[in-house]
Amino acid sequence: MTQTFDAIIIGAGVIGASVAKEMAAKGLKTLSIDKLPEAGYGSTSGSCAIIRTYYSAFETCALAYESWFYWKDWANYIGTHDEAGLIEYHDTGCLVIKTPHNKNLKDVCQIMDQVGCPYKNIDVKDVPNYLKGADMQQFDPAKRPEDDDFCEPTGPSVSGAVFFPRGGYVSDPKLSAHNVQRAAEANGATFKFNTEVAEIRTDNGRIAGVTLADGSQIDAPIVVNVAGPHSFVINRMAGVIDGMNITTRALRHEVAHVPAPKDGAFDNNGTVYSDSDIHTYARPDVGNNILIGSEDPACDPKEWVEDPDNFNDSFTDQWKIMVMRLAQRLPELGIPEQAKGVVALYDVTEDWMPIYDKSDLPGFYMAIGTSGNQFKNAPVVGKIMANLIEQVEAGHDHDNNPLNFHLGNINTYISLGTFSRNREINQNSSFSVIG
Ligand SMILES: Cc1cc2nc3c(=O)[nH]c(=O)nc-3n(C[C@H](O)[C@H](O)[C@H](O)COP(=O)(O)OP(=O)(O)OC[C@H]3O[C@@H](n4cnc5c(N)ncnc54)[C@H](O)[C@@H]3O)c2cc1C
Repeated sequence: MTQTFDAIIIGAGVIGASVAKEMAAKGLKTLSIDKLPEAGYGSTSGSCAIIRTYYSAFETCALAYESWFYWKDWANYIGTHDEAGLIEYHDTGCLVIKTPHNKNLKDVCQIMDQVGCPYKNIDVKDVPNYLKGADMQQFDPAKRPEDDDFCEPTGPSVSGAVFFPRGGYVSDPKLSAHNVQRAAEANGATFKFNTEVAEIRTDNGRIAGVTLADGSQIDAPIVVNVAGPHSFVINRMAGVIDGMNITTRALRHEVAHVPAPKDGAFDNNGTVYSDSDIHTYARPDVGNNILIGSEDPACDPKEWVEDPDNFNDSFTDQWKIMVMRLAQRLPELGIPEQAKGVVALYDVTEDWMPIYDKSDLPGFYMAIGTSGNQFKNAPVVGKIMANLIEQVEAGHDHDNNPLNFHLGNINTYISLGTFSRNREINQNSSFSVIG
């Protein structure tokens, strides 16, 4: 017999689980389907899980600051027992270098003033107080090892930094998705793993349900695409891509995991670090290690992936290039022989901002295009999607009259039109993982 639910959520990563939690909290009988064996096994597990408040737009900064309160008070947000334990959120703060790429953080600091998020300007001579042993010469523009002057300084000094005390990281992103799964189940949600959605069915121009890879069918009048880097595959199944101005693609990315520099630059008080002069970000990790990621300089080729089930998951030259770029700033950083870390996929939009929206197909919704930067927003994205779906199903014309959403922790309204599939490309975007 065909099973029937009020809503099917495709994907049980940290965002998919959050959507299930909040929809179930509204009394909907939800089914989360994931083809992998556990919650958060997809791109969530590869995440650096950095929690920060700086982005290029008011709405994305406000969303991130609102979300910080949930990480800070995670046990209260989850509100139930997880036999696997709860994640630990490390509230270390984030240090960001001022560069021409981020307009010396002037626009960001103005937005922080608007949303009431604290920050502190740091003189360049004081940066080593946050990052021991830092060489503050300028290295921009980024280069490749084949360039003669790779890693050579290009100027005497960067112009300083800003410290954002409200930020940090989660050391086990997969566990965070599991925690949210348990919270969703406590609200009545159902999860089905090792189960692949192969087809999206419609009836009379509206969502009717999904067909699984084994041929069985599950019916629901609402389907939500939270499939991470597979989002375009699911949108293709639903036939909604032609009705979208903003689209999604899977982009391959490497993250390096290396021992922290010996001089203690990322010791126990080490902060999250973002530096668009060396086009690199880093954060401390357990066991006196650090994670290093790229801020996508123009000289690095982008590896778009046509089939997210089949990509090169081995490290390439890029791994060493990222470590060497950070070593420009931190000369004590060793460069290990053996590459360790993560190779994973971002789900990227044209302006590196997400899509949290309905579609042209009634009953089909999407929380996608998270562009390597939306882990931190999962708790609030769940609430946004549950609210948006409720209002649109009740007849609200969100396309022509975008909903506003109240961010309770910071008492601010944002327009959800910012996350529309039909928005114009945000020209203020960094066009990188910074968003
Ligand atoms: C290397 C890396 C570093 C990152 N660093 C950060 C960071 O520091 N800070 C930050 O905020 N964000 C970061 N991100 C982004 C963040 O991790 C993602 O935005 C977030 O985890 C996405 O969660 P999700 O639930 O949308 O997707 P996912 O976790 O990818 O989950 C999608 C799920 O959908 C399932 N699925 C797909 N197709 C099907 C199908 N046909 N049938 C059934 N199931 C299906 C998959 O199995 C998967 O489990 C990073 C991402 C990566 C890859």
